[in-house]
Amino acid sequence: MTYKVTLIPGDGIGRDVSLAAKRCIDATGVKIEWEEQIAGAEAMEKFGTVLPTQVLDSVRKNKVAIKGPIVTPVGKGFRSVNVQLRVLLGLYACLRPCKIYKGVKTRYAGVDLIIVRENTEDLYAGIEFAEGMARTKEMIKCIEELSGSSIKKDSAIGIKPISITASKRVIKFAFDYAVKNNRKKVTAVHKANIMKETDGLFLKVARDVAEDYKGKIEFEDRIVDNMCMQLIQKPELYDVLVLPNLYGDILSDLCAGLVGGLGVAPGANIGNGMALFEAVHGSAPKYAGLNKVNPTAMILSGVLMLRYLNENAAADRLEKAVADVIAEGKDVTYDLKADRNDPSAVGTSQMADAIIERVK
Ligand code: NAD
Repeated sequence: MTYKVTLIPGDGIGRDVSLAAKRCIDATGVKIEWEEQIAGAEAMEKFGTVLPTQVLDSVRKNKVAIKGPIVTPVGKGFRSVNVQLRVLLGLYACLRPCKIYKGVKTRYAGVDLIIVRENTEDLYAGIEFAEGMARTKEMIKCIEELSGSSIKKDSAIGIKPISITASKRVIKFAFDYAVKNNRKKVTAVHKANIMKETDGLFLKVARDVAEDYKGKIEFEDRIVDNMCMQLIQKPELYDVLVLPNLYGDILSDLCAGLVGGLGVAPGANIGNGMALFEAVHGSAPKYAGLNKVNPTAMILSGVLMLRYLNENAAADRLEKAVADVIAEGKDVTYDLKADRNDPSAVGTSQMADAIIERVK
């Protein structure tokens, strides 16, 4: 069988790592017809938009995509292409496994966590009102009237919607993932002690959903600040974490740090019958085009893609090849060497070559 997969190389280091991942996936022997689509800065130059409709059409048609990171300008400019893709395609669950591979430099041992981040709402919904605008003043007046609270006149406002619908489907996803992958426990992470209505609703839904899995999957909840400390002190106590969008984003990087850094943290965005795979890391512009950064996160995102396609034997082989190359520590990028200035570090494509040698 030949699968059709949309490939969005991305910008910054995107092309380096996505090309490496594509070659490694092809080396497993799984037949994939790649449909390349451009988004981000390059698409802006060519088509006058960072997210041309043909990109969305291609993912909707093929149902599976893999994407390199794309720059999001801070403060002004276009809305994140990454967030837009997740929202417009309804990819509501962001799956981010964080596992320590032997040979990776880390202060920890035995970490094997799964992060499930809600992908479509929360403060990431992109509903913001700029400081000083007439509609912001109107919004402030309206909120003051409705809530009885006062807001400083020179405020910008961001809206945090948390719904039963979006919370339920992502929490159910986390429990179903736990059942399917022989995991023991789901921990819901929130700040419901302060945000009683929004995070409170997320926690209430989590407790309700947990009832349906009683006896199969253990359930607990943690307040997000305490969760950060617990993850630093005793990450081995945790298994599957499910979080609203913003906490999920922050804790993904924290957990990537536990297992050796962004270079080794893969991810998947999954919706109903559609999935887009991408590394947790961004486009690291200072390394763009240097053939320097670690392709592991992107290649492991490819492993997640192969599992999604039920190509489990190929996924196992590719994951083992990655693990073996890292464990051997010879053909690895600078970030995986004990000394980051080690001159024996290889480039992105050479590390991919070493993985390909083992996967064949
Ligand atoms: P980043 O993840 O791009 O890079 C931070 C640092 O992490 C880098 O300087 C580098 O030292 C290290 N790093 C990242 N990837 C690595 C790899 N593969 N190998 C080795 N080291 C690696 O984060 P940033 O600098 O905050 O963001 C840069 C841009 O990427 C921003 O515009 C941001 O919005 C965007 N971004 C995109 C995505 C995405 O496409 N999904 C995700 C996060 C950030």
